[in-house]
Amino acid sequence: MNIAIMGKIHPDGLELFKKNGLSFFEIENFEEKNLILNLKNVDGIVLRTAKLTNSVISECKSLKIISRHGVGYDNVDLEYLNKNNIGLGITGTSNAISVAEHVMSMFFTITKRMNDYDQLVKSGNFKKKYDLGDFFELYNKNVLILGFGRIGQALAKRCLGFEMKVYVYDPYVKEDIIKKNNCIPIEKNEAFEIADYISIHLPLNDKTRNLISEKEFGMFKKNMILVNTSRGGIINEKELYNALNEKKIFGAGLDVFETEPPSNDNPLLSLNNIVLTPHNAALTLESRKRMSIESCKNVIDFLLIKKSLNINNFVNWNFIKNYRFK
Ligand code: NAD
Repeated sequence: MNIAIMGKIHPDGLELFKKNGLSFFEIENFEEKNLILNLKNVDGIVLRTAKLTNSVISECKSLKIISRHGVGYDNVDLEYLNKNNIGLGITGTSNAISVAEHVMSMFFTITKRMNDYDQLVKSGNFKKKYDLGDFFELYNKNVLILGFGRIGQALAKRCLGFEMKVYVYDPYVKEDIIKKNNCIPIEKNEAFEIADYISIHLPLNDKTRNLISEKEFGMFKKNMILVNTSRGGIINEKELYNALNEKKIFGAGLDVFETEPPSNDNPLLSLNNIVLTPHNAALTLESRKRMSIESCKNVIDFLLIKKSLNINNFVNWNFIKNYRFK
């Protein structure tokens, strides 16, 4: 069997392919013509962030599984995969800790004005330390976590470690589970008014697009810090710019953007009360190793060692089990 790796992954996963006798090759040119040429006979694809269109997949007559190196899957069309009996795997347990730590570093960088103080010292202005305005503690502050899945739960543990009060909005998770994790279930609008920090851990879909827009920015506390490491589009960027520019909130941190990369004239790039990172929250070395191993293992187990398959990693398991795993 032959596997294509779309985008570079850590070699630890490739070692697993070798051990299990699967041949594989890497592709870096994602032009449609090149993809069709190279993918038409593959049995599986390990997919990083490149878009894999239906017109390419329709030419892959042997394709049985696409294994995402990560947890989001908006670069493939799930409905189309279901129609064509193609499994879709994700690396469910690999990157939650890295993303949760990334959120904590954004909380700290903004709350403690780290970038401003760093510049102050480097520019020879050590003695002007009282000129920058107040900075704060996380202790005893209200943090609202939107979405209590893998990353939301990992973040909650870390916030509790810093003795924050952790509120959770996720209507799809039972209140009992939220309480068992020492967090407080809350309605969204009530939470928007009391939150000192908000961190978003939701999928992007019709319900969540522009979830934070002009009306919501009118509800927040003036000292609120907003962080999004989930998907661009959940916060309306134009309204975020207005809120930061008019100091309606204290600051923001973004790892994800409506358009990636953001264009050079995106006004958010000109603000100093925002911290921006290049969609790298999940890309620590530890997480890359785990994602590489887990995405390759999903392919191996799906194709060869069915009894070891982690079905929790399969987005369309209920669908594919009926035809492929009877
Ligand atoms: P998950 O599926 O484990 O959790 C998502 C949670 O959101 C679920 O508990 C679900 O019930 C809840 N939810 C869904 N719709 C909701 C709604 N309308 N209102 C409230 N809650 C809702 O996902 P995860 O692994 O925690 O990932 C969360 C997000 O982070 C995804 O969008 C993923 O693509 C993104 N992500 C980004 C990076 C990065 O590098 N920045 C890395 C990993 C994941």
